[in-house]
Amino acid sequence: TCATPDDVLKAIKDDEVAMVDLRFTDLPGLWQHFSVPPSALAGDSFTEGVGFDGSSIRGFQEIQESDMLVVPDPTTAFLDPFSEAQTLVLICDLRDPVSGQPYGRDPRHIAHRAEVYLTSTAIGDTAYFGPELEYFVFNEVSYDQGANYGYYEVDAIEANWTARRTDGPSLGHKLRPKEGYFPVPPADVLQDVRTNMVLTLEAIGISVEAHHHEVATGGQGEIDMRFATLKRMADNVMIYKYVVKNVARERGMSATFMPKPLFGDNGSGMHVHQSLWKGERPLFAGDGYAGTSDLMRYYIGGLLRHAPALLAICAPTSNSYRRLVPGFEAPVNLGYSARNRSAACRIPMYSLSPKAKRVEFRCPDPACNPYLGFAAMLMAGLDGIKNRIDPGDPIDKNLYDLPPQERARIPSTPASLEQALDALERDHKFLLTGEVFTADVIETYLTYKRLHEVNEMRLRPHPYEFVLYYDV
Ligand code: GLU
Ligand code: MG
Ligand code: MG
Repeated sequence: TCATPDDVLKAIKDDEVAMVDLRFTDLPGLWQHFSVPPSALAGDSFTEGVGFDGSSIRGFQEIQESDMLVVPDPTTAFLDPFSEAQTLVLICDLRDPVSGQPYGRDPRHIAHRAEVYLTSTAIGDTAYFGPELEYFVFNEVSYDQGANYGYYEVDAIEANWTARRTDGPSLGHKLRPKEGYFPVPPADVLQDVRTNMVLTLEAIGISVEAHHHEVATGGQGEIDMRFATLKRMADNVMIYKYVVKNVARERGMSATFMPKPLFGDNGSGMHVHQSLWKGERPLFAGDGYAGTSDLMRYYIGGLLRHAPALLAICAPTSNSYRRLVPGFEAPVNLGYSARNRSAACRIPMYSLSPKAKRVEFRCPDPACNPYLGFAAMLMAGLDGIKNRIDPGDPIDKNLYDLPPQERARIPSTPASLEQALDALERDHKFLLTGEVFTADVIETYLTYKRLHEVNEMRLRPHPYEFVLYYDV
């Protein structure tokens, strides 16, 4: 672990680093990189930055103002476990060379601003985040006769159920849909793959608490990292996705974090556990419902009040809304509960220790840009605290089973990306507080998502339309 630029330069020598890989995150949330030889990196690279062309990065600069700088964060250095030549990775902040200021659309800067804002409120000084990312690993040769439908024809998804029954060797012993959680091998064929992912994460310095097969068949997995502070955890999420995808790749498989790759089985969520602290004091512990403080219930009030807008960022794809449907352990109703996994906000009761008191927001999925997502959730929660937003009574029944009239009184998650984006357009003042998000970022984000995703989806015939309408 490095703390300063000098530590990094020393590590480059000690570890015989052949290449330095500089990384940052684009607006939709994918890691981007370019590499420089160690000789091109000096102590002042960490203050002056290293130049690159930002014009082709999704959601970033216009072509006429494309020069940008990456400023490596020395505390993020790690050796890339997947490169042949010894490669040191540095996660970077972005800077505008003209103004000399941090780049306003840099997701990592927004995460930083959220942490600065929290401290400035005097409510607390630290927000801890613990995301649970689920994913699918697909065997590229056993689906759709050799093709990975994630990359090829969308209509193979509809063929999937038939294909699994008729394709290849005996499939009778395979996990039944929704029963992947969690029989031992040989039903769980991915034990070693997940162990390998965990060992790789721990070698990088990310602590892991558990790994397991998830509910869906077809190789759904989950690895739980130990909680960390907001920006640090967003960095860890980027590393997690990189490790999961590359370990799968090394074994001839492909991992995906798309929220709902299979019809009729569970999707992949990214439940996010969160808590606020002031020094050593856990601010969420109290003597209210399920051991919560008033402050924690206001935080939940903020998450629930702003949930439709939040989901534009936390469940950011058209596919996300195929996951947020009843019956698959994904939340549909915007309530809270200590008992119940059908509520958008759950208060886990595994431990009664005040230190463990936290809220689990279950709506997000792993397609979320973690820097934007964690920052937005914190801002919603803080807005709840400042305005004493009462979340109402907890809902301790299974929300899926409530009578329709009762359920209708509980607000629901948006039904589509389009609805979520409209909600964000109406409701984003809470994000602009403290200049954490800027109006420019919100506008750029809305335009990007509408133009490249909502609109592009609307233009295409859907495979299921052939089932419904071919014979009209
Ligand atoms: N896969 C479920 C989801 O989409 C969550 C299952 C669980 O409770 O871990 O949120
Ligand atoms: Mg899970
Ligand atoms: Mg969970």
